[in-house]
Amino acid sequence: MELNEVWVLAEQKNGIIQTVSYELLNRARSLADKLNVSLAAVLMGYDIPADEVQELIYRGADKVYLIEHEVLKDFLVEPYSSVLCYMIDTYNPQIVIAGATSTGRTVLPHVAMRKRAGLTADCTILDIEEGTGNLLQTRPAIGGNILATIKTPEARPQMATVRPHSMKPAPRDTGRTGEIIKPVLPDGCLVSRVKKLDFIEDESQGISLQQADVVVAGGRGVGKAENFKYIEELAKVLGGAVGASRDVVDRGWITYPHQVGLSGKTVTPKLYMAIGISGAIQHIAGMQTSETIVAINKDPDAQIFKLADFGIVGDAMDILPVLIEKLKQCAAQREQEAVK
Ligand SMILES: Cc1cc2nc3c(=O)[nH]c(=O)nc-3n(C[C@H](O)[C@H](O)[C@H](O)COP(=O)(O)OP(=O)(O)OC[C@H]3O[C@@H](n4cnc5c(N)ncnc54)[C@H](O)[C@@H]3O)c2cc1C
Repeated sequence: MELNEVWVLAEQKNGIIQTVSYELLNRARSLADKLNVSLAAVLMGYDIPADEVQELIYRGADKVYLIEHEVLKDFLVEPYSSVLCYMIDTYNPQIVIAGATSTGRTVLPHVAMRKRAGLTADCTILDIEEGTGNLLQTRPAIGGNILATIKTPEARPQMATVRPHSMKPAPRDTGRTGEIIKPVLPDGCLVSRVKKLDFIEDESQGISLQQADVVVAGGRGVGKAENFKYIEELAKVLGGAVGASRDVVDRGWITYPHQVGLSGKTVTPKLYMAIGISGAIQHIAGMQTSETIVAINKDPDAQIFKLADFGIVGDAMDILPVLIEKLKQCAAQREQEAVK
């Protein structure tokens, strides 16, 4: 059978397409263009509004394979994996990529094992090798100290998961057209030994780190757990979320969901403030695609300044109270002007 399309596994929650799907389309569009093949999104769920499905086409998919069934409403690994295996057998894509989300990280290894295919997890760069057309799958390795490029010359499809927020979502073009295909599944595809009883949203973290336009992150240079109140206050004044380096998470100054970096979250805010953070490669892996980076560090040679757009050299404990006060004054002034 001829090898053809590039696929992305689209994700939905309660029928709403998740942003990671558009990020994947952005990344996969260039792969499909280099290979001169179609780009398709595979979307599983139930009762998904038509405009949500159409959005995948506006964001770069040439085709959407839409598979809807009550069992597929929420993610369950067995039926999702069975459907994807059936789809691969039927349509023979050459590349399948998914987000390195809990869905992608769970279902793709399951599928890769069943299809005897290769899988590279947590890629940060994907490209096509000239001449062979193989997928070049690049990811941090050996504790993030090197970038390793992996290829799978023999097994097909070539499969990879990609870190959410490591790429901007594909731009919306309402002039794009595409095909929506609804494959008929064979019996037995939708069997699951696991049943989802309930889904409880974690609302304890305030503004979601990965959705925030502003992230204020503290590192060991903050000095002690109590000083994190300045990081929290600055984040509040700026309407942002609180991030942290692994060092302070390990010290118990703040909880793991706030960790930014290789073994934490990847963020792409408009503004990232790194306060008392040295800029270790593993931290940078999680925030380097931020639009504007501001660093406060008392060491003028700190690695973080090489990445920062703006740097303030000094003691964070001297700078933060003044900065917070000034920003509060600015906010109050703006409010007064708005009232006038
Ligand atoms: C496999 C692996 C995965 C990892 N994953 C992650 C990850 O996901 N995220 C992550 O962050 N790290 C990760 N790390 C750890 C990483 O290597 C660093 O150890 C960590 O990022 C350092 O945290 P830090 O910058 O807060 O501390 P440090 O490196 O100790 O830096 C503290 C900085 O604060 C400055 N400073 C000190 N006092 C002040 C002051 N009063 N005012 C202003 N500045 C001051 C210092 O000059 C210094 O630059 C990982 C490591 C490994 C091996």
